[in-house]
Amino acid sequence: MTDTLELEISKRRAAILAELAAAATPPPVLIAVSKTQPDAAIDAMLAAGQRVFGENRVQEAAAHWQHRRGAYPDLELHLIGPLQTNKSEDAVRLFDVIQTLDRPKLADTLAAAMEKTGRRPRLFIQVNTGEEPQKAGVTPAGLAALLDHACTKAGLEIDGLMCIPPVGEPAGPHFALLAKLANAHGLTRLSMGMSGDYVLAARYGATHVRVGTALFGERAKP
Ligand SMILES: *Cc1c(COP(=O)(O)O)cnc(C)c1O
Repeated sequence: MTDTLELEISKRRAAILAELAAAATPPPVLIAVSKTQPDAAIDAMLAAGQRVFGENRVQEAAAHWQHRRGAYPDLELHLIGPLQTNKSEDAVRLFDVIQTLDRPKLADTLAAAMEKTGRRPRLFIQVNTGEEPQKAGVTPAGLAALLDHACTKAGLEIDGLMCIPPVGEPAGPHFALLAKLANAHGLTRLSMGMSGDYVLAARYGATHVRVGTALFGERAKP
């Protein structure tokens, strides 16, 4: 049973890495999205050699990763879900990369948490490229002001941009917009592309793709 799981996961991972390598040089970093996955699947992914993981909730990420960190010093954890300001310190302590900075207040609390903990996770700004009211992320028009606040007022360094295109729309124009915005602001990293469109994202210049179901299989319902 466990052997089968390990074999399946390692095959899926190898296939996706090969697709990414064929799509772009250098290929984007594959972030394995481990939210809602059982321990056996996470351990199988680690056994396959995967070290970069994404989680969308701080508490679940702590449950998945706090006890595993010691055994995997080269682990790299990305926060890819919305962050409440009151969880900033927990997030700064746990994550190596926070991809969902999207408002000035959060820049301030993250800066304070970094000052307090001495840890400096890398930061991406999430852009709501589809301008969906229910979705997190700064609007494309608001990006310049947020960048200015984060860098000038909060003293943060921003590495790149992240987006989640609207469901049911072609993703290409959103990937192109994110790449254009990053370029306009001199940012070199782009987190875009999920299970359905990671190859497309790689072609549009993604440096990081976030893949859950295509790697792990279907998620359990939370
Ligand atoms: C869950 C999630 C993913 C992975 O989604 P899949 O379609 O399972 O690959 C990627 N990005 C974010 C922000 C997510 O919340």
